[in-house]
Amino acid sequence: MPGILMPGILMPGHSEPGILTPDVLKKTVIITGASRGIGRACALWLGKRGWCVVINYHSRADAAEETTREIQKAGGEAYPFQADVADYDAVCKMTEFAHSLHGSIDALVNNAAVSEVGLFDMIDRERERRLFDVNLHGAMDCARAVLPHMLHQHSGSIINIASMWGQTGASCEVAYSAAKAGLIGFTKALAKELAPSGIRVNCVAPGFIDTEMNAHLSDEDKAAFAEEIPMGRIGRPEEVAECVAFLCENASYVTGQILSPNGGYIT
Ligand code: NAP
Repeated sequence: MPGILMPGILMPGHSEPGILTPDVLKKTVIITGASRGIGRACALWLGKRGWCVVINYHSRADAAEETTREIQKAGGEAYPFQADVADYDAVCKMTEFAHSLHGSIDALVNNAAVSEVGLFDMIDRERERRLFDVNLHGAMDCARAVLPHMLHQHSGSIINIASMWGQTGASCEVAYSAAKAGLIGFTKALAKELAPSGIRVNCVAPGFIDTEMNAHLSDEDKAAFAEEIPMGRIGRPEEVAECVAFLCENASYVTGQILSPNGGYIT
């Protein structure tokens, strides 16, 4: 079958730039929390490289639509989909929608999360439970929902966005750190379970990235943090998206691993 010539672009599933085949066009990825920040950067990165992207969001329809339009303007295929990842029925509907587009779900990026900043004993228990429902159980439920399709295909890539705080722990972000540590354990265990079925499960654990999640910090706080980072600066969402794209498109012998774009903050 003839392909579409895409000079200089490395297409998903291909090791050499050049030909975008019709089969490649059909690869579908669900990215949770893709309306803003890191999820948005992942959506743009993959959407502009030929992936069909389901742009999940929770409440910011305007931002999700803007991300969708930017991909479509570049000639890509994208669809916004509202779903609270803590609502399993909604997650299942999103999964079925994604599968209906091209008959497969090739990748899932579990990116949606909320943060709670404050002393452990001052954080409301309801808010702590909500954080776990979104950041950990939401990711596990999204994986559960896509699994039947990936098992049927005997292929797929699941990428969980954790945090370096899940590796080291952060004062005043105890629940967040615990949920992210859980996500790292989930990644390692599920990777072993699914490797024989041709499905890879990996984790990207970013350091400090410039997004709205850190909007509560002043410029002075950010500058002070940047001084602590060996590379001397805060990271950009696109620098996380690069890692996600690598794990989605290449990395065929990589599973159960944690890739940490953190400027050398932890090694
Ligand atoms: P962000 O700018 O706050 O964006 C959060 C995204 O998650 C938004 O798209 C939001 O949707 C979505 N979301 C929140 N709750 C949701 C729910 N219940 N269901 C579905 N979507 C939901 O965050 P970010 O900084 O890009 O963070 C992205 C990921 O990277 C998170 O897992 C975060 O923990 C991780 N991370 C971030 C940093 C950092 O420094 N920024 C560092 C390490 C790890 P709406 O727009 O609809 O609200």
